[in-house]
Amino acid sequence: MEHPPRFVIEPSEALAMADSAAVTVPELLPKLVPAAQPLARPPISNFQVAAVGLGPSGRIFVGVNLEFPGLPLHHAVHAEQFLITNLSLNAEPSLASFAVSAAPCGHCRQFLQELRGAPDINILVTSHPTPQFNPLSHFLPHQFGPHDLLSLRAPLLLEPRHNALTLNSDNLNNINNHAAICNGHVDSHKLKIAALEAANKSHAPYSGSPSGVALLDRHGNLYKGSYLESAAFNPSLGPVQAALIAFVAAGGGDYHQIVDAILVEKEDAIVKQEHTARLLLGTISPDCNFSTFLCQCQPSPP
Ligand SMILES: [Zn+2]
Repeated sequence: MEHPPRFVIEPSEALAMADSAAVTVPELLPKLVPAAQPLARPPISNFQVAAVGLGPSGRIFVGVNLEFPGLPLHHAVHAEQFLITNLSLNAEPSLASFAVSAAPCGHCRQFLQELRGAPDINILVTSHPTPQFNPLSHFLPHQFGPHDLLSLRAPLLLEPRHNALTLNSDNLNNINNHAAICNGHVDSHKLKIAALEAANKSHAPYSGSPSGVALLDRHGNLYKGSYLESAAFNPSLGPVQAALIAFVAAGGGDYHQIVDAILVEKEDAIVKQEHTARLLLGTISPDCNFSTFLCQCQPSPP
């Protein structure tokens, strides 16, 4: 395509691109996949995957795979997870259809179950000999998903949620310590509040352990990521990965640009992110400052 690849395309532009290619917007999705593949960062497999999806707002969203040398493979981000996180970052309420360069792996078919109406999401695999849209129920006919564990009314991934988390008061000393090592581009209070906001948007209904990460790059740009759980546990996406998706989607460069990071998680969480978050950030950006702040769930009014 003539257009430079980006991670979000506004509805008017998507319509104009579809018009100029004489196709509908859903038919445009597979045409955008090849230009999106070079945005992937897979230094281990060198297998570039791109997923290009359409939301109900008419916006088009791109997801790509990310791999991290020096770490176990489960730290990797799949293109479909990137796509769903990109939707979440941009408050898109659902996913109608997407085109992807390779057949979705079992891990991604499972992760997609976190969306309401998941069986009806239409998927086209561009590498298939005769590419056509088929519903997710075609790719995963016997689903295990959120409704096996949660009530039907529980908010799912991409649906509005606020986890009612507040920071513990004894974080004051910690924030002062963090401020002392912060790089001065943004005050640490702002970074801490961003991480708390991300934790409040976290989809963690299975463990009750929401968390969020805020990253700061050396140019003073801030990126937020919310922990996103899967009913099948293992496909869950960590808060650092989610924040790295925000970094990559915003055009962030080398991970060494990330100089400061804050994790917010619950004091009594049964699922803790701190050690993994420190390991991941310390591997991809060894000079990055990292602090954890504890929070608690505000009791609901009687
Ligand atoms: Zn996958």
